[in-house]
Amino acid sequence: MDLVCLDLEGVLIPEIWIAFAEETGIAALRATTRDIPDYNELMQQRLRILDENGLRLPEIQRVIAGLMPLSGAAAFLQDLRAAYQVVILSDTFYEFAQPLMRQLGWPTLLCHRLTVSKEGQILDYVLRQQDPKRCAVEAFKGLHYRIFAAGDSYNDISMLGSAHQGFLFKAPDNVKAAFPQFKSTDDYDVLRAMIDEAAREDSTA
Ligand SMILES: [Mg+2]
Repeated sequence: MDLVCLDLEGVLIPEIWIAFAEETGIAALRATTRDIPDYNELMQQRLRILDENGLRLPEIQRVIAGLMPLSGAAAFLQDLRAAYQVVILSDTFYEFAQPLMRQLGWPTLLCHRLTVSKEGQILDYVLRQQDPKRCAVEAFKGLHYRIFAAGDSYNDISMLGSAHQGFLFKAPDNVKAAFPQFKSTDDYDVLRAMIDEAAREDSTA
């Protein structure tokens, strides 16, 4: 049995924090795991900036509700789910992802959650576990699935490495240069062909 694990932001939807930074004009919120590989350091910076600017969850959700999946993402995902089991593994939060999950047909999403006050202030975040993408892949392998995975950034590398085959998708040049062991593409049709080829190659294993 085959299971495809996909990253969310940068692969199927825009980077939520970048879209929010553009809407609010707060340039410092543009940083992502592409810029700061240490996720905890990045999140502490984001929460500090939100607090300094008095920005609460409803404002962020309003911006997210106006975003759309990347062009071609919904059709790619729909076709992929007809042929494979698919799970989205993301470092976003359920509170942020919901409007975009609706547009993607409610795929299974494993991610983190926020701690929010009654007034909507984001107080903290709760990581599902450390190294969650790799741990999910290892758990699925324990259930006897073959895993093919695709992601675009540093927080995907342990997932790609633990999968039977991992692919970089829409990755920036610095990530592609740092991890040349992974095949790379920016095109959904090519990614689908890579997954299908990997499934055929591995089918005798
Ligand atoms: Mg990403």
